Amino acid sequence: HAKRGGHSGYAFYRSEFSERAHERMALEQALRGAQAGAGLELHYQPLVALDDERRIVGAEALLRWRHPELGLLAPDRFIAIAEDTGLIVPIGRWVIDQVAQAARRWNEGRAEPLRIAFNVSTRQFLRDDLVAAVREALQRHDCRAQWLAMEVTEGLLLEDSDSVRRALHGLSELGLEIAIDDFGTGYSALGYLSKFDVHCLKIDRLFVRDIEAEARQAELVKAFFAIARALGLRVVAEGVETEGQAAFLRAHGCGVAQGFLFCRPVPVPVFEQLLRRGAPETDRPQPAGP
Ligand code: C2E
Ligand code: MG
Ligand code: MG
Ligand code: MG
Repeated sequence: HAKRGGHSGYAFYRSEFSERAHERMALEQALRGAQAGAGLELHYQPLVALDDERRIVGAEALLRWRHPELGLLAPDRFIAIAEDTGLIVPIGRWVIDQVAQAARRWNEGRAEPLRIAFNVSTRQFLRDDLVAAVREALQRHDCRAQWLAMEVTEGLLLEDSDSVRRALHGLSELGLEIAIDDFGTGYSALGYLSKFDVHCLKIDRLFVRDIEAEARQAELVKAFFAIARALGLRVVAEGVETEGQAAFLRAHGCGVAQGFLFCRPVPVPVFEQLLRRGAPETDRPQPAGP
């Protein structure tokens, strides 16, 4: 708070403000340098089948930025800056390229396809030609569209624009899975579900968090599953942290889940180790033998 002598609240506010503005400028500058991909990393969080084996059936690519002074930064720290500056377009293209390359490599010689999901923010989607970006990345890396999923949020579908509809249709025609990320947290004008080409609902962790403690929250999640079933959509539960949540989700027909219970997002070499093993290592007691 205001120090002794002369430091008005205004001055305090201004210095805090300029500190933040300074941090933002420094981040922006560093991000411009990082845009070629240098400094950016994708970490991968496994998606597991909710059965006894809990084998890995896919992964979500999550962006990180290894800042020279600040260390490893999560997307909340820099995605907004990337959007404001337009850097989100080259960064997003870099993400798609990396994911196509990885998906191709990880699907080599697999019987069951491994689907790698990547995130696209609404402003990024509206600024870039993602159909072209994805098509080019698939060709460049000889990757099948069936190995990729694109996660968009409800906000994008509320735009209700023809260009969004055409782009999602184009991506879907390529064979990409379109997933609604953080399902249930937007405005949830559910009408969009029948208007756009979407294939998967990712139930936000906000709902998963309380399914054990709050009966009404549990009913809501069951209702989401019913909507998904009725529309022929797949469901993925996000943010699963406890065995109780996993058991509930499994009992109500959720086939695939993601969360710290199974595995955190990990760097590529660690994810590749997990893939070789087939399932994330958990502390969970092994099922009793015969
Ligand atoms: P999201 O797509 O909903 O990703 C899930 C977030 O939840 C990730 O945070 C992940 O680390 C976290 N998470 C996963 N399991 C659990 C759990 O069991 N408990 C809790 N508490 N959290 C869990 P992260 O990596 O910080 O990413 C935050 C958001 O940043 C993402 O949310 C996504 O919207 C955005 N993002 C990430 N990568 C990209 C990208 O390449 N491009 C764009 N445009 N956005 C991205
Ligand atoms: Mg996501
Ligand atoms: Mg999500
Ligand atoms: Mg989220």
